[in-house]
Amino acid sequence: MCHSRLSMRRIASGLFAIALAAIVSPVLAQTQLERAYRIIAGKQFVDLTHSFSPDTPVWSGFGQAKMRASADPQTGAPYTIAKDGFRATFYEMVGQYGTHVDPPAHFAEGGVTIDRIPLKEMILPLVVFDATPLIAKDPNHAFSPDDLRAWERTHGRVRKGAFAALRTDISKDWDSNPERFKRSPFPAWSLATIKLLAEQRGVIAIGHESLDTDITEKMESETYILQKGRYQIEAMTNLDKVPATGALIVVTWPKVKDGLGFPARAFAILP
Ligand SMILES: [Zn+2]
Repeated sequence: MCHSRLSMRRIASGLFAIALAAIVSPVLAQTQLERAYRIIAGKQFVDLTHSFSPDTPVWSGFGQAKMRASADPQTGAPYTIAKDGFRATFYEMVGQYGTHVDPPAHFAEGGVTIDRIPLKEMILPLVVFDATPLIAKDPNHAFSPDDLRAWERTHGRVRKGAFAALRTDISKDWDSNPERFKRSPFPAWSLATIKLLAEQRGVIAIGHESLDTDITEKMESETYILQKGRYQIEAMTNLDKVPATGALIVVTWPKVKDGLGFPARAFAILP
């Protein structure tokens, strides 16, 4: 009798412990997040961002960046580590420079600016469409809805909430042949594909290797996607090192108040 009362007490205390664990869910959440971090830390990361400099390809209407040593506004003397213990750079450039984010406000009056894009839209499942076989036949191919559907027959439907990136390999000209990189037309999206991705697939953002969304500077697709409230990353690189599905993309940029665009840092975490 004494024995069974003891086991009843054990059962009761066990139930109490389970109930307590359910209440103290932050502990459980913490271990889940730690596990997620351990998984992520063990994965391969791929930088999807170009380095940029005053020589970087840029739209001629914006012009090249200027960078110089930051100087004391009183004396004009540049700061040096030898003299001042520190140094800094003064940048003068358009926000749409290098690998950059275009927020909706870039093309839409009243659109979301870079400081107001939700943080949860800055880490997303990444899908990559490889247009390079099509570009082998047509160097300035516009990725079409038929191309997208062919991709989906192999890789499955584009998942809702994804970041959809277009691989064209023109990023390989960024450093080695900037004049070729800046050509027009160039390989990018068709408007019908961008509409399909936004309206029927529910993508949150798009990205491409070119400096514009359309294959010319006519800007139909760019106007559409930004006025639709989606953001885009332009002048991406290394999309040839990322699988068609299964990777995550992390994209970030400085939080300029009411900012209309800025160099961004994008990288992929491979499956
Ligand atoms: Zn842009």
